[in-house]
Amino acid sequence: MAGELRADQTFSVHSAAGICATHKDAPLTVGESSPPPPLDPVSALFLDVDGTLLEIAPRPELVQVPRDLPALLSRLSVQHKAALALISGRPLAQLDWLFQPWRGAAAGLHGLERRRANGVVDRVVNGSSAEALDRLRPKLAALAADQSGLTLEDKGGTLALHYRAVPQRETEIRERAEALHREAATVLRLIAGKMVVEFQPCSVNKGLAIAAFLAEPPFIGRPPVFVGDDTTDEDGFVEIRRRGGIGIRVGPPCETAAGYGLPSVASVRTWLARSALP
Ligand SMILES: [Mg+2]
Repeated sequence: MAGELRADQTFSVHSAAGICATHKDAPLTVGESSPPPPLDPVSALFLDVDGTLLEIAPRPELVQVPRDLPALLSRLSVQHKAALALISGRPLAQLDWLFQPWRGAAAGLHGLERRRANGVVDRVVNGSSAEALDRLRPKLAALAADQSGLTLEDKGGTLALHYRAVPQRETEIRERAEALHREAATVLRLIAGKMVVEFQPCSVNKGLAIAAFLAEPPFIGRPPVFVGDDTTDEDGFVEIRRRGGIGIRVGPPCETAAGYGLPSVASVRTWLARSALP
């Protein structure tokens, strides 16, 4: 197990000077797959979305939200005194649409957008990474325009190329993405997730987003809990571990900085529902 990586855990690792770090530069351990303890209402709760609260869909826009999930988030939010935040790669606008009428604290685009518990939205602006994304955009669009099953998701602040419809092209797609990334490796990081490669600014990640929430009310002083399922969530698990909190990785046991595991999206929702007051 140690040292092995599953296909959905292959990372882009760039450790040379001048190249921005990725979560993989932090030491990872083989995750215990033991289930987490019951959720403590005193904790600050951070939840990834796709693959954690929602089953992953063939395309992001096809994701299904169970009818009772927004109400569950509302109950948990009340129970945790509003110290509950979604931590997602999706834009805030998509999160609000998916979970309406719930609209609490949330970090979108891996932290490029962050809505505090009081409703104030912070947006990270970085001209260098924006220019690098502008140069990459037409190249990725050309890759996805050949009708071969690739989908470019242009989130504005990040660019994601999905290949779920053509998993047999994984090696080729990742090699092409690596080559493109070399042109902008000082300002962008390349994340290889579940059937997706994503270019995002070096200046944001889910660990930084969680740390920002924990520095302000109502999160400050609360022991943090973070549930996630994918490569980008490891930044969050590293931050949680550093603070002595509870990290929970969703899916089969794997190499991770999370100390606990839950096997599936359904098991996450059951674990949350058991913790929520009626
Ligand atoms: Mg996820």
